Amino acid sequence: MEQYQRKTILPGITLLYGFPEECCIYAAEGERALALIDTGMGKGDLPAALEALAPGKEILVFNTHCHFDHSAGNFRFPAVRMHPGCGRDQDETEAMPGAGRPCARRIPVREGDTFDLGGVTLEVIETPGHTPGCICLLDRTRRVLFAGDLIGSDVHNVWMLDHLPWVKFSTVSLECYLRSLEKVEALGDRFDGFLCGHDDRILGREYLRELMRLTRSVLEGTAKPERPDIPSPPGQDPVVCWRVRGEGVPTAILYQEESLHDKKRG
Ligand SMILES: [Zn+2]
Repeated sequence: MEQYQRKTILPGITLLYGFPEECCIYAAEGERALALIDTGMGKGDLPAALEALAPGKEILVFNTHCHFDHSAGNFRFPAVRMHPGCGRDQDETEAMPGAGRPCARRIPVREGDTFDLGGVTLEVIETPGHTPGCICLLDRTRRVLFAGDLIGSDVHNVWMLDHLPWVKFSTVSLECYLRSLEKVEALGDRFDGFLCGHDDRILGREYLRELMRLTRSVLEGTAKPERPDIPSPPGQDPVVCWRVRGEGVPTAILYQEESLHDKKRG
């Protein structure tokens, strides 16, 4: 089986890569344990890659969210920590390597949960918006925020819709996404940069600031969106959504008119 390659991002933080369709998979090591942040699509033997990287260390597996490119490899592990807002198991998805195999046991994590890896502490920050169950993981020791798909990059939009194009309407509002961006901004100087799901560089706060500006411009009605060409599921109506692109920072947000605002109760 084709194996993962490794790239050291910071001392103790390793990017595992080798299958272009998968998200960036990170291993954050402490002296005692290793946190695996996302499992890709299960195409390669991740447990073997981790054993080669850090023989004998306890492994704690996390999903930043449950999109298939971040979680379809869960089946390779006995248990995965994720937010209770995560949707159905993506490792059951047809045509994925884990289809038909037992799913990993889910261990729920919530805001403020901390994990001591031995000299390194990770903290859970709830950041719904890209999906309802999105979390970031703050590496307090190395001062980076594992942001999943909260922060976009030049190779990936911030997809506001769940599982486009297979689900037509987002279950989280753009207002909710903005609150999560503001929450991360309010972490202040507790971290120096972002490690994201689709860019292997450490991104700076200019991405966060530009996404906040774009999101506010949409909510205030001053944005000038374009209509991207999104393929429709077979036999279904076209998905109507809009995109605004960042200025100076290669990022964008994609949204639907129906999901700008929080749903009113009652
Ligand atoms: Zn995603």
